Amino acid sequence: MSGRRDFVKSSVLLSVAALVRNKSIAGPMLALEGRSVGKPIVISTWDFGREANAAAWEILGTNGRALDAVEIGVKVPEADAENQSVGLGGRPDRDGIVTLDACIMDENSRCGSVAGLENIVHAISVARAVMEKTPHVMLVGEGALQFALQCGFKKENLLTEKSKNEWLEWLKDSKYRPINNIENRVGPPGTLPGGAKNHDTIGMVALDGHGNMSGACTTSGMAYKIRGRVGDSPIIGAGLFVDNEVGAATSTGVGEEVIRIVGSHLVVEAMRQGLSPEEACKRAVERMVSKNPEKSKEVQVGFLALNNKGEYGAYALQDGFTYAVRSEGIDQVFRAPYYYRK
Ligand code: ASP
Repeated sequence: MSGRRDFVKSSVLLSVAALVRNKSIAGPMLALEGRSVGKPIVISTWDFGREANAAAWEILGTNGRALDAVEIGVKVPEADAENQSVGLGGRPDRDGIVTLDACIMDENSRCGSVAGLENIVHAISVARAVMEKTPHVMLVGEGALQFALQCGFKKENLLTEKSKNEWLEWLKDSKYRPINNIENRVGPPGTLPGGAKNHDTIGMVALDGHGNMSGACTTSGMAYKIRGRVGDSPIIGAGLFVDNEVGAATSTGVGEEVIRIVGSHLVVEAMRQGLSPEEACKRAVERMVSKNPEKSKEVQVGFLALNNKGEYGAYALQDGFTYAVRSEGIDQVFRAPYYYRK
């Protein structure tokens, strides 16, 4: 969270991002339509994606496989107790229980997913185990936990004091009121007690030096959700989709809106039709707006995409969605263009 504040305060990066958004420059690394730095490359949601990208880059930069890179990359925020939207330290559901959703997909369209997983920090690695060790794609709840334990994952308490205290604060008005955040808004509506931000899934997609793509997505989901609620993040096609012949996409924000349009699949199919990654993300956002105009004004959703030529782009409903890019000669956070201009 403080990383994001640092980013917002960084006038240098903001001015670069503003120039990119306004299409007024096309520097060596930065051209709005189909920004490209070639392969290998990894991109991920939000400014905390930068640290995750650094871990992924250790694999990609040494000719490793995209699948390994995305798993290792998203494990960084999963293990970070200060990150209250992913893995350890994630905000709980309304009953005070942290439940994790995650999925992973590789260059051969193999995929694995877990939803409502409790007490295991690295949900992404359990998702990968589902993909590699079972004939299934998705395991949920108690079954997912049993499977993880059988695989040797360690049971841990994921609820930190900080997240617990915020939840107790939220409980005071004892009304069911899940919070749909608009990322750049400070104060209610859309913020937690103390003005903290609500959501921040990490979605990461990568293209390795062999020309193969993979993606991973992991989250603790919407804060104070109804027990059992599953968002877009573990749903292949919604929170993540990879097609090695075309590209890969991932999403963050209010998952219900993404599921309704099967967002990440839509983005990849739009790239298949020839759209640039940014245009494809914009098309998904526009679909969301056309299907649900009133709701789309109130919530934040961001899409992030990479094609198999190493071109990348993003688009969001609202201002404030940032994403991180790492490749040879680039290690930066950008602010995505967005639909609703005030
Ligand atoms: N997409 C996630 C969900 O709806 C949350 C988020 O990205 O903030 O569970």
